[in-house]
Amino acid sequence: MWDELSETWKEKHLLQSQYFLQITKCDDQSCCRPYRSSIRAILPGRFIPPPVPVKQTRHGLVAPEPDETLIDSHYGSLFSRIALSAILPQCAKTFKIFPFDLYCPSLIGKLQPRICPVCGMYFPSQKAKSSHTKLHTGAKFVEVSKRIDEEDLDTITSSVQKDLAIPVDSLPIIHSVQEWATVPWIEEN
Ligand SMILES: [Zn+2]
Ligand SMILES: [Zn+2]
Repeated sequence: MWDELSETWKEKHLLQSQYFLQITKCDDQSCCRPYRSSIRAILPGRFIPPPVPVKQTRHGLVAPEPDETLIDSHYGSLFSRIALSAILPQCAKTFKIFPFDLYCPSLIGKLQPRICPVCGMYFPSQKAKSSHTKLHTGAKFVEVSKRIDEEDLDTITSSVQKDLAIPVDSLPIIHSVQEWATVPWIEEN
């Protein structure tokens, strides 16, 4: 079952990739408590940046394209990656959001079907992407429900309020942890 609340929460707090799931607080203080550490001073983008190798050339440091040989290239430490975050391969221009797995050897050239065509967010599977993509069409359903006749409103509101006893900005309701946690990595048949 598609759970819009859960997808909205994931969009705000998760960065998913093939072998790495990052979960952070968001900046909305009605949702998450303020940070207790200085993590935002170190990671302005909230998440650990994607691994991008660099190599020294006659024109300075350059990031090789993912399908080039990585001989002579090095993945720096987290702090050198943050310092060198402006050094990206040419192909970075073709993505709205730099996909975390761009240099993952088993995924070279296979990322496009996992990228949301609307916002450019990258997902660890096509199924996770499809589930997320429904969020972008969700706005239409809200518009339709606004057109409901005035007299229907009382009965509808009371049943809706019962369903939405938990405010939209709170944590998602996870009915089955197993399903919630495994879904993004299982492809649809
Ligand atoms: Zn939050
Ligand atoms: Zn999207």
